[in-house]
Amino acid sequence: MARIVQKFGGTSVADIERIKIAAEWVKAEVEADHQVAVTVSAMAGVTDELVGYVDMVSSLYDAREYDVVVSAGEQVTSGLLALVLQNIGVDARSWLGWQIPVFTDSAHGKARISRIKETQLVECMEKGQVPVIAGFQGVGMDNRVTTLGRGGTDTSAVALAAAVNADRCDIYTDVDGIYTTDPRIVPTAQKLEKITYEEMLEMASVGAKVLQTRAVEMAMKYNQIVQVRSSFSNKPGTLVVNEEEIVEQELVSGIAYSRDEAKITLVKVLDKPGVAAAIFGPLADASINVDMIVQSVSEDGEATNLTFTVATNDLERTVTTIKSNYKEIGYEKIISDSKVAKVSVVGVGMRTHAGVAQKMFQTLAEKSINIQVISTSEIKVSVLIDEEYTELAVRALHSAYGLDSGQ
Ligand code: ADP
Ligand code: ASP
Ligand code: MG
Repeated sequence: MARIVQKFGGTSVADIERIKIAAEWVKAEVEADHQVAVTVSAMAGVTDELVGYVDMVSSLYDAREYDVVVSAGEQVTSGLLALVLQNIGVDARSWLGWQIPVFTDSAHGKARISRIKETQLVECMEKGQVPVIAGFQGVGMDNRVTTLGRGGTDTSAVALAAAVNADRCDIYTDVDGIYTTDPRIVPTAQKLEKITYEEMLEMASVGAKVLQTRAVEMAMKYNQIVQVRSSFSNKPGTLVVNEEEIVEQELVSGIAYSRDEAKITLVKVLDKPGVAAAIFGPLADASINVDMIVQSVSEDGEATNLTFTVATNDLERTVTTIKSNYKEIGYEKIISDSKVAKVSVVGVGMRTHAGVAQKMFQTLAEKSINIQVISTSEIKVSVLIDEEYTELAVRALHSAYGLDSGQ
């Protein structure tokens, strides 16, 4: 007998028919005598709709109320799946984040799970009942509902699996595993049998939304084996595992992209000590994550241009925050552009092989794609380009690194 946590994403609970299919996946594990806990996302599209309502009310909203609104989708699916399970003879009940509780910090809209009180869930599982947990939500230090950032049910799943000491954490989605790149834009992408935590962490952090970054971080921390598989087919999925378990390391394991990027340039910022702190300090205080940063060389020793990127939905707050700190920063002009995308090449093999970045720049040059910003880590190279060329860039890179199936 094993203990299993199953997670069903939005498309896997998109309507009542899909919820019935998800229930069959749960029932199969229960019938195999496993102890099962389930966590669910909102029905596909529902969270976007809820976010849309908040945006209609105000763009600079109170994040605590945003969380109350956008966490609602998961409440509906947890109740519905529990009902459907009961209908097919599986003992089940729903749980909301605060009932467990799933404790988080108070960073509303992108809260981190600090602790899960697992006692009641374990009791429930031990008596053969399936807890159906609303994903994406928790309760903050301020005793108010929090959400974990978009795609957060993946993190709920891994955190629950670690908390109840699960043998497996199965992430059911609409693709049958993790591919060398998004199979929806590159049909020749190849499914990976296994991927390391480290590579998946980089892939997720640069935009491969098949798993939320924090879910991978947590899996790595607790050595939790995660399987990504499809609720639409019976095919085996992809395992996210430790590096030692992968015998043959590829130089480049995948290409990822993110359209959720916005670029901000501060023109003629004074070239003096403390300016970067004056810009990025207030942004950090406003919980705005800054990603890529470049500063141009100052020609006259007095002023430089500074460019950086943030998530698209933080753009408006970023510009407002910078403008309200104008006096401390001092710049001539602020320019923003949300029509940009980040494309990244990821692979642990990069540690020991030179030339990966050069191949990326060469490939993009051959397609006449201009690189606006570059950033690198030990196992990743990312470039910022015009959003219009995202698919072209991803396809060209996928084939340049020999990742196309049949290559
Ligand atoms: P869910 O609603 O189940 O959480 P998501 O839409 O969040 O599903 O994540 C699954 C999607 O991730 C796939 O439909 C696919 O388009 C996308 N994706 C991006 N990169 C990859 C990749 N490397 N491998 C597989 N899927 C990927
Ligand atoms: N429903 C949330 C979202 O759409 C959480 C999730 O699906 O993981 O972001
Ligand atoms: Mg997701």
